[in-house]
Amino acid sequence: MQFSEVIGQKTTIQRLKSLAQNNRLSHALLFLGKEGSGALPLANAFAQYLVCDQVAVRKVRQATLATPSLFGEEPSPADENVQMLPEDSCGRCPSCLKASGSVHPDIHYSYPVVALAKGDKPPISADYSSEWRSFTRQYPYANAYDWLQSIGAENRQGNITARECSEIIHKLSFKSFESGFKILIMWMPEYLGEQGNKLLKLIEEPPDDTLFFFVAEQEARILPTILSRTQLVRIPPIAPEAMEDALVNRAGVTPEKARPLAAVSEGNYREALSLLQHNDEDWQSMTREWLNAILKNGPVAVVRWVDEMSKFGREKQKQFLLYVNHLLEESIRLRIMGDAATPIPDNEVDFATRLNKLASISQQQAMIREIEQAAYLIERNAHGKMLFHALSIKIYHIIKHNSLILIA
Ligand SMILES: [Zn+2]
Repeated sequence: MQFSEVIGQKTTIQRLKSLAQNNRLSHALLFLGKEGSGALPLANAFAQYLVCDQVAVRKVRQATLATPSLFGEEPSPADENVQMLPEDSCGRCPSCLKASGSVHPDIHYSYPVVALAKGDKPPISADYSSEWRSFTRQYPYANAYDWLQSIGAENRQGNITARECSEIIHKLSFKSFESGFKILIMWMPEYLGEQGNKLLKLIEEPPDDTLFFFVAEQEARILPTILSRTQLVRIPPIAPEAMEDALVNRAGVTPEKARPLAAVSEGNYREALSLLQHNDEDWQSMTREWLNAILKNGPVAVVRWVDEMSKFGREKQKQFLLYVNHLLEESIRLRIMGDAATPIPDNEVDFATRLNKLASISQQQAMIREIEQAAYLIERNAHGKMLFHALSIKIYHIIKHNSLILIA
């Protein structure tokens, strides 16, 4: 993948190039960006840039290092001996072609996987390398849930295993084959438990020209021992103009439709595509049934609805809760800023208007807080049935009795 294929993120790309150019690249980088911001495509594009025959970062670096310096200071960008690096990888040389097909012998990947059958050896990423190649080519902006579902994980938690860590140590012990670099791209180090400490020594004292690119969404869930050894590359959500452009030029959306979609997806390209795909009709009717059960039809209807909901996997339940909060936030925006100023998809305006009749802003905010908390607990393995039941009761009290509302 070339930088030009990454959606937006021009400033970050510039920064990465200047790190390479000025020889300030730490050997362990943390690409930290929320879901759908494009952290993985960026890491891939940067790896391709480093190995591209036309860019030849390594030669530039050697020339730079050979510059005699009396005081041993780092070469400055203004140093006239520093060669300028090209804007992007060429995309055509053998190294680029291998990198873009995820088959470059100097670029390795680690990512969470699941064991295929009970009693199998602990799985390693290479067990799924052909799935990984086609998945990342097709869905470069996907999240870990999408990936794990695509390899049949269902309700099982993905993992980066101790065996995978030994595998990494082994792979990086070889000399670079072609490019002069050895790059390990680890996607979702959040899935790396204590076993990750096996890698510390390697990260601390890596063999020459070895680079680690950790690509993560949630800083708080990365092993602190690894976190403290990385240089942070923070990746912001995609800017609305870049998002709009991508929706029009990649997803074939009309400009009229792309604008509101870019606004509501909040810099998350995965979310924008998923809004486009489902139009959220199912979630919307699920929300309608839920609120009707809570407010109109009574406890039996609530039990029935909770039973239905608990059939979904944990990730789906979380997505549902996030969707309800997205609707509630839209309702509040609609109420405060009015119809004209608020880019809300047509099919949600009606629902948001109803929500506004149903509850005041402080009630809606109280619901958002409770739903956020529930989504957090689901992520931490809370029991779905009990959780949705308790949440339904809380929402009933918020709307009927104005309870659970914080007075600001
Ligand atoms: Zn190239």
